Amino acid sequence: MKALRFYAPEDVRLEDVPEPECGPDEVKLRVRNCSTCGTDVKIFYNGHQNLTPPRTIGHEIAGEVVEVGADVNATYGSDWKVGDRAQVIAAVPCGECYECTKGWMAVCQNQTSVGYQYDGGFAEYMIVPKQVLKVDGLNRIPDNVGYDEASAAEPFACAINAQELLGIEAGDTVVVFGAGPIGCMHIRIARGVHQAGPVYLVDVNAERLKMSADAVQPEETINAAEVDVVERVMELTGGRGADVIITATAANITQEQAIAMAARNGRISFFGGLPKTNPTITCDSNVVHYRQLHIHGANGSAPEHNKRALEYISTGQVPVKDLITEHVPLERVLDAFQIVKNGEAIKVTVEP
Ligand SMILES: [Zn+2]
Ligand SMILES: [Zn+2]
Repeated sequence: MKALRFYAPEDVRLEDVPEPECGPDEVKLRVRNCSTCGTDVKIFYNGHQNLTPPRTIGHEIAGEVVEVGADVNATYGSDWKVGDRAQVIAAVPCGECYECTKGWMAVCQNQTSVGYQYDGGFAEYMIVPKQVLKVDGLNRIPDNVGYDEASAAEPFACAINAQELLGIEAGDTVVVFGAGPIGCMHIRIARGVHQAGPVYLVDVNAERLKMSADAVQPEETINAAEVDVVERVMELTGGRGADVIITATAANITQEQAIAMAARNGRISFFGGLPKTNPTITCDSNVVHYRQLHIHGANGSAPEHNKRALEYISTGQVPVKDLITEHVPLERVLDAFQIVKNGEAIKVTVEP
């Protein structure tokens, strides 16, 4: 079968590999959709410390069950059978450490990841490892949800995890930095799940801002390359500032701007990580102190968030279909990475 294998930074090959065999405690999938994100582009250029090459990459996965290991259902209390439609978690918690037993699986200290320690979804077939099955990380796709939509449940789950910490209340003003797919999902969740009030979308790329705004219709878009974004948010909120700010970008300045534009009792999610070589910001601690700000981190998602994402897609509370703007075959997977890198589509999905 064909699979996209990472050997070293910028040495990523679409090659013929033997079809994987399903062990007694594993499930084998025919991958139908594996979506792409900025992480794939990062891996392509930089690799990752947890990624052991050669490795089939791809972590936003949905497929059809083609084989169920003999011990799977008895061991994990499941009833998987051939023909079932399933979505796979990407971040795999151990289920046993202090954090996992506290229910904080997104910050498991022994976390492994599909596409890093286990072969991922840019392939015709893949094995769902026992570590995923053990934490109930293989999820049934509701009948009215397509494989392409289900493959977007993983990034969507990361956004759900972040918003869970923000306590968004009905009518809250929300600012989202970053007009990528995850920024769009944040807007949809803030409105569809938390009944947010006015939402403002910020980016420095005018084309991407327009493309995403056409889909998710924020009350206003702000091009931070052209206007002072803090000043504009202050104007839009009558000088009060934004109740909730989410930085879905890797730009340090957006975290500083988020603090500067926060309302009293404002809540901030540092959703996007910063470059490893430049991970610090300047924070006026007195602004945090006197305005009683709440600053949250966000690290991936827990299996539970993936299940909730599939449910929100199924009920229509948070649609994702229209955010998937490109479908490409596995042969063009490297083109898909370029499309993501250039911000030319909202979400690109690969169909092996
Ligand atoms: Zn991703
Ligand atoms: Zn753990």
